[in-house]
Amino acid sequence: MENTQIEAIQLLLKQPKNIVIVPHRNPDGDAMGSTLALYHYLKGLGHKAAVIAPNDYPEFLKWLPGTQSVVQFEFNEEACTTLINRSDVIFTLDFNDLSRVGHQMGTVLETASAIKIMIDHHQQPSDYAKYMYSNVEISSTCEMVYNFIAFLGETDKIDAVIATCLYTGIMTDTGSFRFPSTTNRTLEIAGDLMKRGANHSDIHNQVFDTHSYNRLQLLSCALGNLTVLKDYNTAYISLSQEELDRFEFKKGDTEGFVNYGLSIKGIVMAVIFIENVQDDIIKISFRSKGSFSVNDFARSHFNGGGHTNAAGGRSETSLNEAIEKFISILPAYKQQLAP
Ligand code: 5GP
Ligand code: MN
Repeated sequence: MENTQIEAIQLLLKQPKNIVIVPHRNPDGDAMGSTLALYHYLKGLGHKAAVIAPNDYPEFLKWLPGTQSVVQFEFNEEACTTLINRSDVIFTLDFNDLSRVGHQMGTVLETASAIKIMIDHHQQPSDYAKYMYSNVEISSTCEMVYNFIAFLGETDKIDAVIATCLYTGIMTDTGSFRFPSTTNRTLEIAGDLMKRGANHSDIHNQVFDTHSYNRLQLLSCALGNLTVLKDYNTAYISLSQEELDRFEFKKGDTEGFVNYGLSIKGIVMAVIFIENVQDDIIKISFRSKGSFSVNDFARSHFNGGGHTNAAGGRSETSLNEAIEKFISILPAYKQQLAP
């Protein structure tokens, strides 16, 4: 982040402000960890802060410190709109285009007069924020929030609560420190967060070892549906609404399923198609190994985006049509998908 921007933000935060902090729709560990960490930090400085999530998030994140104070736009539109319109500053975290919060909330954010600050690590940021800390090389928005607090010269304000939130997002976005986005700096920060009171073992347990039996049955069903397209070094999984209902799907239950495809030797791209009858869309997650960019792939064909090795998208067709379209596109990528 440029010094002039840091100085401007320091000046802005000198007096108590009304601040709204926003993660993306269907927030994950990094989105909730970063927004809650910033919430605790700003409250500690004497600001009035609120985290407004566009919609609900998984149970396995609902132990995070401060989770009970998060308001959801989807269920409290009026109150959230008022909060946003009354705010002086809006932080948008872990996304870089207002479409990522959904149409209605996006419009409210767009028209709000507050000063907007973006902290994000996704590709191709839109130009809606006055101050932008955007870096696609950093593992997670949580790592960036740690840096942001450090830029402001206040690392010593990172207590056990903030450290716990930040460690959670770094852990989830790096696949427990295994993805190539993990750097020595990531591990140094994680080490510092441990020193400040983040309990790595408890956090891992809360996020990964608190699932239901039904979720494991759903995983079994997903793995039963896994198809390998050997010619394209690609594997995909599909889950229909009927299958999700059969195992009483809850938000977050399919988190991580897509990675199983990538665990097969030689697979370069793994995809999961999940039917969502309520929203009338097929939600698609893409993962890749090496230089194959699923960000470009999702952006070009499935109205999505993300990072080089992890991206999301959607299709407004039936589940079968989405899969057929996907398969029909692959020949054009045959060379790029070679290992
Ligand atoms: P996931 O597959 O876990 O939903 O998302 C993988 C990555 O891509 C995450 O960093 C997520 O924020 C991003 N992502 C997911 N869906 C979309 C989308 O529709 N558009 C864009 N631009 N990014 C997405
Ligand atoms: Mn992230």
